[in-house]
Amino acid sequence: SSEKIDLLIYGPARPILENGFSDHFVVHTAETRGDLERLTPAIREKIRGVAVTDHTARVDKDSLSQLPKLELVSSFGVGYDHVDAKYAAERNIIVTNTPDVLTEEVADVAMGLLICTLREFIKADRYVRSGLWQTQNYPLSVGSLRDRKVGIVGMGRIGQAIARRLDASLVPVVYHTRNPSKDVSYKHYPDLIEMAKAVDTLMVIVPGGASTNKMVNAEVLKALGPRGVLVNVARGSVVDEAALVQALKSGTILAAGLDVFAAEPNVPDELKTMQNVVLLPHIGSASVVTRNAMNQLVIDNLKAWFSGKAPLTPVAETPVKSR
Ligand code: NDP
Repeated sequence: SSEKIDLLIYGPARPILENGFSDHFVVHTAETRGDLERLTPAIREKIRGVAVTDHTARVDKDSLSQLPKLELVSSFGVGYDHVDAKYAAERNIIVTNTPDVLTEEVADVAMGLLICTLREFIKADRYVRSGLWQTQNYPLSVGSLRDRKVGIVGMGRIGQAIARRLDASLVPVVYHTRNPSKDVSYKHYPDLIEMAKAVDTLMVIVPGGASTNKMVNAEVLKALGPRGVLVNVARGSVVDEAALVQALKSGTILAAGLDVFAAEPNVPDELKTMQNVVLLPHIGSASVVTRNAMNQLVIDNLKAWFSGKAPLTPVAETPVKSR
């Protein structure tokens, strides 16, 4: 039919998304929950699709309940712990995310962050800029990739891409997930503490949400030991941040590289004063080329569905709908 489809773009403004829809669509925007509540009931009742612009926009039962005609939530990013996909499924609402298009980019960042943490790139850069190199050579780094064994926490799309990079670097890999992966032949540890005891480096790349909340806790860090290095590119919620600060302060572990934090954009002041941590502002997928691909997939999921096709990348909880 020629009837236009009403869409809502929910979350921090993302003009590239707003401009991505043709004139078959009427695009409304709500940057915050307050904006959503201020839409007139007449508009809310017309909205059939939502594009969620980032993980700071909570798409919970409350916000979904405001949209009675909703058919599909197209969420930006592969992690969708900010979307209540279970409740959406109960209402027969499809949820899609943006897997695959960011996998290699995020794995690059994880690998870079590991090397940067071990070989102290940030401190060494400051050393050059300060002019100290004129007086003496930079001290040898205690950390090195050469003598390490890495335990990857999560062996999905990104975990496997990280493992391939470690293979190329001749670094031994083992992993922890709930179920052994059919895609890899690395040693599987059903128990995270057992794995932490067996390695000296943890790279965390599991989804956020209740099942992984604070799974890297004081006990795991203690098991990792004084040579231990933690790299977290998953979600801040996966690591007990207070326990991590304590472990870094007391020498329970050696160092950490972090792209994600418990209460972003807030980072504990104690971490900011430490020399043995590298802190990134959640930039895992944040390059122009990869963000363009993610935006396009958010758009393409909505366009596919509303042109009568199956959604391209539905999440696991989503009801299987054929057209
Ligand atoms: P996948 O779904 O492909 O892989 C997830 C992996 O985590 C699987 O191996 C799964 O195995 C494991 N896992 C899930 N739950 C648990 C659990 N409770 N305990 C142990 N292992 C678990 O996801 P991707 O690799 O595509 O992405 C992973 C996550 O990375 C995203 O959900 C997102 O949060 C984060 N991310 C961060 C980015 C950043 O900017 N820093 C960018 C992109 C992603 P099993 O089910 O067998 O346990």
